[in-house]
Amino acid sequence: MGAGPSAKPLHVVIAGGGIGGLTAALALAQAGLRVTALERAPGFEEVGAGLQLAPNAVRRLRALGLMPALERPSLRPELVRIRGAGDSAEIARIPLGPIAELRWGAPYLVIHRADLLGVLVAACKAHPAIDIMTGTEVVGFAATAGGVEVAARRGAETLRIAADCVIAADGVRSRLRERFGLGFADRPVWSGRTAWRALVPAAQAPDFARKLETGLWLGPRAHLVHYPLRQGDSINVVAISEDAWRADDAPDIWSISGDLTALSPAFARWSPDARGLIAAAPEWRRWPLFDRAPASRWTVPRVGLLGDAAHPMLPFLGQGAGQAIEDASALAAAFQGHPGDVAAALAAYQAARAARAAAVVVASRRQGAIYHLRGPMALARNLVMKRHSANQMLSRLDWLYGE
Ligand SMILES: Cc1cc2nc3c(=O)[nH]c(=O)nc-3n(C[C@H](O)[C@H](O)[C@H](O)COP(=O)(O)OP(=O)(O)OC[C@H]3O[C@@H](n4cnc5c(N)ncnc54)[C@H](O)[C@@H]3O)c2cc1C
Repeated sequence: MGAGPSAKPLHVVIAGGGIGGLTAALALAQAGLRVTALERAPGFEEVGAGLQLAPNAVRRLRALGLMPALERPSLRPELVRIRGAGDSAEIARIPLGPIAELRWGAPYLVIHRADLLGVLVAACKAHPAIDIMTGTEVVGFAATAGGVEVAARRGAETLRIAADCVIAADGVRSRLRERFGLGFADRPVWSGRTAWRALVPAAQAPDFARKLETGLWLGPRAHLVHYPLRQGDSINVVAISEDAWRADDAPDIWSISGDLTALSPAFARWSPDARGLIAAAPEWRRWPLFDRAPASRWTVPRVGLLGDAAHPMLPFLGQGAGQAIEDASALAAAFQGHPGDVAAALAAYQAARAARAAAVVVASRRQGAIYHLRGPMALARNLVMKRHSANQMLSRLDWLYGE
């Protein structure tokens, strides 16, 4: 069922204008499809904070021609320095910088999520085959004779959009995943961990945090990650602790201010260096972390899942957005490999992605457990890391970054 060169391009509706949805829009349009991307929020203004973009993601963004636009808003950390939380002593380091680029074919970047979204929105708006609509929530779909009709709410209006295929890229709490029958039984489950996120103005941050490197501090039942953002003007700090959070603990969980060492006792006995960085944060935002099994099926006829909707993951490998970007490029390759044949393209997409994404979900969970070890187990972990050469540290990442 191939489409000839003069055939009308397939029309794909994407539900969700996050990193996954917008990367998919661009990749599909570059593969010759027509795309309508619908985003529920009224605009693409800032939510979130820093993102680490590993070489597996950056290689795909570069293939979409985005590298020049990413150059200015991103930074390239020279290494990851791993320290013990109690005494600040270095446990190990993983070289990045030019070594990452040589080994994995693309640099390791850090960027503000809003800046990455800005780059994607600009590229999508500049592409004639992409139509982006904000303030538009996808509420359902129905099969039609030759395709699918997507129902979307825009203010008081209900839009009905005819398409050949719909991609649900509506995030970790995907309603569409349930609506398409791809995940009723496995709702997101509270993981027992909270991520506290802050942006510290560089002028107020301790010297060690202003270096062009990613810091990873390991403590009992908690860890801390930091790296500079936006030409080094601010430091992105993420502190993850095990907590007894309940939904009714705080009415507005997104805007908790205060000293984290007071908010979460997990950090109270950390070294003065780590506590100094924590204390420098003007405001903390709290993200309860939810876990969910990856969808066992990613597609039903004319529908596919993408990004967190298909495979939400705990953030301990910094790969959620990276895997969404991998999905986007695999989806476009599947349509290129099966021109005009939605069923074959969706089947090829699922085959290309499901096992890989599930492996990253599992590895992310395991990484969290390793980071939060206590007592003798933590000592053993540190000893093993100390004994690893730089090359051994890098080779453990080949399966993830080299794919
Ligand atoms: C603390 C923390 C740190 C992280 N750090 C990293 C990192 O360093 N590197 C990394 O790669 N990943 C990281 N992640 C993960 C990453 O943020 C997510 O995996 C990624 O943003 C998922 O993108 P997405 O497009 O699938 O979903 P989302 O970004 O959630 O986008 C979904 C979009 O769909 C919209 N939407 C929802 N429902 C509808 C509807 N019905 N109709 C229309 N639109 C709808 C939403 O408004 C939203 O804009 C981190 C996550 C956390 C919590």
